[in-house]
Amino acid sequence: MKNIHSKRPDLPLFKSEIPKGNHVILAQAITLVESVSPGDIILANQLIETLLPLTGRSVRIGITGVPGVGKSTFIEAFGKHLTSLSKKIAVLAIDPSSTKTKGSILGDKTRMEELSKDAFAFIRPTATRTALGGVADRTRETILLCEAAGFEIIIVETVGVGQSETSVRNLVDFFLLLMLSGAGDELQGIKKGIMEMADAILITKADGDNTKKASQAKADFEYALHLFSESDSGWKPKVITASALEKKGITETWSLIEQYVTFTKANGYFEKHRTQQNLVWFHEHMQQLLQQKLNQDTEINSKINAFEKEITRKKILPSRAAKQIIQDFLKKESSR
Ligand code: GDP
Repeated sequence: MKNIHSKRPDLPLFKSEIPKGNHVILAQAITLVESVSPGDIILANQLIETLLPLTGRSVRIGITGVPGVGKSTFIEAFGKHLTSLSKKIAVLAIDPSSTKTKGSILGDKTRMEELSKDAFAFIRPTATRTALGGVADRTRETILLCEAAGFEIIIVETVGVGQSETSVRNLVDFFLLLMLSGAGDELQGIKKGIMEMADAILITKADGDNTKKASQAKADFEYALHLFSESDSGWKPKVITASALEKKGITETWSLIEQYVTFTKANGYFEKHRTQQNLVWFHEHMQQLLQQKLNQDTEINSKINAFEKEITRKKILPSRAAKQIIQDFLKKESSR
C-alpha cells in the first residue's frame, strides 16, 4: 500500500472509492484523518464533509473491559455472527496505553484472526497520539468514514483502564461492558461510574467450571444495576452471560442491541443522543483549538510556564492566573 505521506492524497479517488466500500482506500483515508499535518487536516475535513450525507446510518457499539477479560475473542465471535447475517462491520480498536507500552493490545498479531480475513469486516487500530483532538476526534471521524463506506455496525473497542471510557461513551450508541465472574469489581479495575455508563454488562467465559460462577455474577450485577438511577435513555441496563469459545450468548447480545436500538429510536433518544454527541464534539474541539493557539504562542506559553511555577508555590490563585493568560492572549490577538 502506498504511504499517504509519500505523495499528495488523491481526494477525488477517496471520494469516489469510499462509497463503493473499497477497504484499501478507506484505510488510506483513515491515515489521512489521523495525520497531524495542517495540510492533511484540511483535506481530511473536506473529505468528511463531502461524505457526510452518507454517514450516520450505522449502529455504533462501544466495547470495553480490562485486559484479559476476553474482548478480542468476544468481538471475533460476535463479528463473525454479524457477518454471517450479511452485516458489514468495522472494528476500531483503541489502546490508550499503546503510546507507553508500544501497542500492548494492538501488537498481538493473532487478535481476531478469522474476522480479519472476512470480506464483510474491516479492523483498524486507532491512533492514540496526543495530537489535537486526541483519540475521540480521530475515532469520530474514522466512524464517519466507515459509515460512508457502507459499514452497518461499528464496534469501538477500548481497554477498560479508566481514562478512555468516557470519551468512547460519547462516540457510540450502545455501550457494552465486559466483566469476568468472581474477580470482584476492584480486581477488575472497573469504577462504579463506568458501570453506570453501560447499557449492558456481559459476563465473559461462562463455560466449563466457570458456568456457575457466571450465573452468580449475573445475579450480583443485576442487583447492582438495579440500585442505579434510571438512565436518560429510559433503557434498563441488562446483564448477559456469554462464552466466546462455546459461541454462547452471542446471538443474544446482538438481539439485545437490536432491542435497544428499536427502543431508543421509538422514544426519540437515539437521535437526541447523537445530536448531543455532536454538540459535545463541537465544544470539545473549540476548547482544543483554543488550547492549541495558546500553546503555539511562545510568549503566552512562557507565561503559562511561569504561572505553573507560581501555582505550585501557592503564590497565585489558579483561576486568577487563567484569567490573566486569556486577557493577555486576547490583547495580543486584537493588536495583530
Ligand atoms: P482481551 O485482552 O480482553 O482482548 O482478552 P482476549 O480475548 O485476548 O482473551 C484473554 C484470554 O481469555 C485468552 O487466553 C482467551 O483464550 C481466553 N478467553 C477468551 N474468551 C473466552 C471464553 O469465552 N471462554 C474461555 N474459557 N476463555 C476465553
